[in-house]
Amino acid sequence: MSDKKSNNRNNKKKRFNNNNNSDEEFNPKFRKMRKKVCSMCANKEIVLDYKNYDQMKKFVNEKGKILPRRATGACAKHQREITQAVKRARHIAILPYTQG
Ligand SMILES: [Zn+2]
Repeated sequence: MSDKKSNNRNNKKKRFNNNNNSDEEFNPKFRKMRKKVCSMCANKEIVLDYKNYDQMKKFVNEKGKILPRRATGACAKHQREITQAVKRARHIAILPYTQG
C-alpha cells in the first residue's frame, strides 16, 4: 500500500455572487422619474404678467438669471413665455439684469 495522497479536488471555484445589479432603487440612472406637469398648463388661471414683481422673481435666481426648465417645471411653450416676460420686466426695471 503506497502512501498515495488522496488528491481530492478541493479547489472549488467560488463564484462571487454580485447581487448589486438587482438594486434598481440605487441606480442613479433610474432615479425617481416623477412626471412633471407644467403649473401653467395645469392651472389655466395663472396668467403671466411681466409687471407683477412677485410673480417674476420666482423665475430668476439670486444672480438675476432666468431659471431653466428643469427648475421652473414649465413646458416649452410656457418657458418661452416666462423668458419673454422676464426680459420685459428687466426692460422696465422691475427685475435686475444682473445682481451681486
Ligand atoms: Zn405649460
